[in-house]
Amino acid sequence: MKKLMIANWKMNKNGKECAEFLIEFKSKYSNKIDAWIASQPLYIKLIINENVKAGLQNCSEHVSGAYTGEVSSRNFKEMGGNFVLIGHSERRQFFGETSKTCQAKLQTVLRENLTAVYCVGETLSERESGQTLAIVSDQLHQGLNDLSAANEENLVIAYEPVWAIGTGKTATPGQAQEVHSSIRKILSEKFPGFGSKVRLLYGGSVKPDNVEELLAQKDIDGGLVGGASLKAKDFLALCGDK
Ligand code: PEP
Repeated sequence: MKKLMIANWKMNKNGKECAEFLIEFKSKYSNKIDAWIASQPLYIKLIINENVKAGLQNCSEHVSGAYTGEVSSRNFKEMGGNFVLIGHSERRQFFGETSKTCQAKLQTVLRENLTAVYCVGETLSERESGQTLAIVSDQLHQGLNDLSAANEENLVIAYEPVWAIGTGKTATPGQAQEVHSSIRKILSEKFPGFGSKVRLLYGGSVKPDNVEELLAQKDIDGGLVGGASLKAKDFLALCGDK
């Protein structure tokens, strides 16, 4: 399975910074690892290119209509977009998203022939009270309920422990692998035809100096990266291009 590294730029970077990043990145990127970038929708046209896939960080569960301020996955597809992050912990924490609302978005994104990257993960208090696997399992069962359009190409799961996002605290490779192996098991049971082939990404303070150890784990197929994806040099290093 080819590894995948996704940059989540969040609401960082202006147009000039996006363009400069892309010039540097594309000049050295060798495509050993798939590289996808989720920017603000405003900059999507800059990213789309034959080697790098472009994504949204969220979308509406509706494809058109009177939903002021929302972004349609159908129109994103029409503009050449490729994938959508769904259920990022910042969406769950600041915008009231639940696994149930994520399920509706997942349905829409898959129906529109885009790839869905569904994010799950526990908070620090949930980890400390021993609930990690139960929380992640619940997020998967609710979010992935009734997804008849899913397959190994259009579904990616990102395990992102909330306590490791933007904090500099990375889950140890062992901690991440433990959760990934249980996600793999759940997906294999839920989707017997292809669940074992879905790419599972780890996210949470992934950096050039810890990426190798993480990617060496049996069930870690790549990373979802915030902070270390903002500099082209670092993101290149995460994609195996030093
Ligand atoms: C993220 O926002 O998805 C993320 C993993 O951020 P960071 O790499 O900065 O922890």
